[in-house]
Amino acid sequence: MQTVHLKVDPDNPNPRIIEIAAALIREGETVAFPTETVYGVGANGLDEKAVQRVFKAKRRPLNNPLLMHVMSWEQASSLVTGIYEEVLLLINRFWPGPLTLVARANDLVPPLVTAGLSTVGLRMPDHRVALDLIKAAGVPVAATSANLSGRPSSTSARHVMKDLNGRIAGILNAGTTGWGIESTILDVTRTPFTILRPGAISRERLEEVLPGLIEAVRPQPEGGGRMRAAHYRPDAQVIPVKPGDNLAELAQAQAAKGKRVGVVVATHRELPTLTDLVVVINGGSAEYGRRLYEIFRMADSRRIEYLFMEIPEEKGLGAAVADRIYEAARR
Ligand code: AMP
Ligand code: MG
Repeated sequence: MQTVHLKVDPDNPNPRIIEIAAALIREGETVAFPTETVYGVGANGLDEKAVQRVFKAKRRPLNNPLLMHVMSWEQASSLVTGIYEEVLLLINRFWPGPLTLVARANDLVPPLVTAGLSTVGLRMPDHRVALDLIKAAGVPVAATSANLSGRPSSTSARHVMKDLNGRIAGILNAGTTGWGIESTILDVTRTPFTILRPGAISRERLEEVLPGLIEAVRPQPEGGGRMRAAHYRPDAQVIPVKPGDNLAELAQAQAAKGKRVGVVVATHRELPTLTDLVVVINGGSAEYGRRLYEIFRMADSRRIEYLFMEIPEEKGLGAAVADRIYEAARR
């Protein structure tokens, strides 16, 4: 398959170019597009055959659900039932934006999208290109991150093409994406609402809108019974480093054994020597989140065997970054 490469201005995309991508979606094909978090790849969410192509392109296991990407709450609400009133407060405050709501699906949603679950994840991306595409296609777009299954999410069209060139029908290239870390996934099928995956919208921000109504699932090294996808793993063995641990010493011990070692430093001043990759995060958790997947890819290209990563304070965006590091460390 030849992947049609469509360059667009992120802030003011040419409607004629958007229409080329939208036509592909209507024809049941797959298209990659930018969102405010990472690049997504999607297809007509109401067409089971089209949805199947997304799984195939990514080599994604069929038991890992996609998210329905919509251009409005009106469109989202046509796909679900039994919505709590409080959900509208979240929509008002955070949509469009990186908050995915898991709600009860109705019969319009093909079982393939939800991997047979009775619930569906809804998301309205805060990106002009994504919204224009969904609008022009005229259907909700079932999508997920635009990477081969098990690889880090893509934050640029170049990353998307590296994984999916020739496997998808088209790509809307609008440069690099903003947050770099995925949406927060919030289960709103029962109260208190539960964070299934920490992400770009922190728990603290959700609680500002619904005090006492948000339950956090803590990121844990061994997973805590929540649904987890085989994601976010570079080739290297990732070793989470807690604030009290001596990162330099741990890293040097492996380097001394002749291993290829990388370190990601967020608070330590002392940089280790003898390592093959040193990344210093100066801008706190926002920068850490934005660069996380680029760091994973860099570790892969430098054939790093052990990647020591400092865990940021698990507050705000730090909770999402910590979650991704623990996830990457699981084998
Ligand atoms: P991705 O876009 O690759 O991050 O994939 C979306 C993720 O959302 C999936 O891997 C699931 O973990 C999660 N997800 C999607 N739908 C549901 C759902 N109905 N219930 C719980 N989690 C979901
Ligand atoms: Mg993904």
